[in-house]
Amino acid sequence: MINRTLRSTDELISAQLVTPEHKMALDAVAQRYSVAITPAMAELMDPSDPHDPIARQFVPDARELIETDGETADPIGDEKHSPVEGIVHRYPDRALLKIVHACPVYCRFCFRRETVGPGGEFLSGDKLEAAFDYIARTPALWEIILTGGDPFILSPRRMRDITDRLTAIDHVKVIRWHTRVPLVEPDRVTAELVDALRATGKAVWISIHTNHPREFSAQGRAAIARLADAGLPLIGQTVLLRGVNDDAATLDSLFRTMVENRVKPYYLHQGDYAPGTAHLRTTIDEGQALMRALRYRLSGLAQPTYVLDIPEGFGKVPVGPAYAKPDNGSWTIDDPNGQRHPWPPIR
Ligand SMILES: *Cc1c(COP(=O)(O)O)cnc(C)c1O
Ligand code: SF4
Repeated sequence: MINRTLRSTDELISAQLVTPEHKMALDAVAQRYSVAITPAMAELMDPSDPHDPIARQFVPDARELIETDGETADPIGDEKHSPVEGIVHRYPDRALLKIVHACPVYCRFCFRRETVGPGGEFLSGDKLEAAFDYIARTPALWEIILTGGDPFILSPRRMRDITDRLTAIDHVKVIRWHTRVPLVEPDRVTAELVDALRATGKAVWISIHTNHPREFSAQGRAAIARLADAGLPLIGQTVLLRGVNDDAATLDSLFRTMVENRVKPYYLHQGDYAPGTAHLRTTIDEGQALMRALRYRLSGLAQPTYVLDIPEGFGKVPVGPAYAKPDNGSWTIDDPNGQRHPWPPIR
């Protein structure tokens, strides 16, 4: 039984998640990028499987030290759109409030991997006031997205405070929390935490990050049920990852598992050009082929939108596949089996 979060190479070796001959290389990785694996995730890993899809997401890998063309510390241009510390305001009506740098786990593919980590935890004091002040004096802000880091790592008391501060701002109608906690550290989803999310007169949405069906342990499912039973609508975000979920059977099972647990698949994210993540990235062709394969076999409820965040902060866009193609002033439509049909129909 692992009873606390693993953070060092030595702890990973003791837990038999890595072998001692990799210690030097992995110490070098851990110096550059934060490492944390919660007991709930460590317990799901099979140390005898070199391709374990849970381990691949969280156990450091020497290949993270290899940087390839196009990779940058700020792959989606957060910096450029940050009017005050902690706020990223890229679209007119919604902004991110990055309230905390820490996460319960550190994903090896994180697009904010250069900025997440333990320490300097909380946007506090004057900085927090300045962030709330920016939201309050920007009437276009209809939705605030709490992210980080992982905001569910905060104490329920702090979460309650954030909820109350946002609730007091008239023009904010929607509060969205982005988190991996319900599956990676389900015990954190206590009655107090659920209560801290309730905001009178506002819609509160929870977006759960999940990449593999095996993440849905009995405890994780129960944590998600506590959120759903409280009336909170749940959506899911998945990162398309080589060797974790880049096959139709795994995505099929993941998206079904999400819907069975009342989580609507929202986005499937193309891997960003975060440094040292080439071994985890797929091509867009591969992503489109997977989306095509899932179109016919999965309920519409289980279909996310496949999106890419354009480097340097130009925004997220769907990247296909496209079923309708212009054809001499009219259209050709592909059906899910790959046959083509004219539109308007020819009789
Ligand atoms: C992803 C993101 C959002 C939310 O985008 P949606 O398409 O509404 O989910 C908002 N602001 C920033 C800066 C983002 O990166
Ligand atoms: S939980 Fe989110 S922010 Fe934290 S390391 Fe994973 S991807 Fe990055």
